[in-house]
Amino acid sequence: MEQVVLRVLRAEVRRRKCPGCGNSLRRADIEASFRNDSSIQLHFRCRFCSFEGGGEFELTPEMCREAAQIAGADGEESLLPEPVTLPELDPITADDLITVHEALAGWSGGFSQLLERSSV
Ligand SMILES: [Zn+2]
Repeated sequence: MEQVVLRVLRAEVRRRKCPGCGNSLRRADIEASFRNDSSIQLHFRCRFCSFEGGGEFELTPEMCREAAQIAGADGEESLLPEPVTLPELDPITADDLITVHEALAGWSGGFSQLLERSSV
């Protein structure tokens, strides 16, 4: 399930543009990992200008549930009482990203600031 969350997060980053050069981060090197049960550390590096950024944010119950629904179709650990079968797992659809997107709303709002802080 955690891997799904990270995968969704990476997909979210790829939808954004590099603050450094404005190019899409679709090809950026992206690393996402859990710092603890409820916190994720995200890092990326633009392949065009080598801009590096990222940050840490809280994992919300909604995100866990969203990921659980996706992971449920994999037959892996699911937090749902009943297995949920999704028609497609790959690629992640926009709907799959809605919850994450909402969770990142505040984060993305200060995206540039977050990136600047990450260089500390
Ligand atoms: Zn760049």
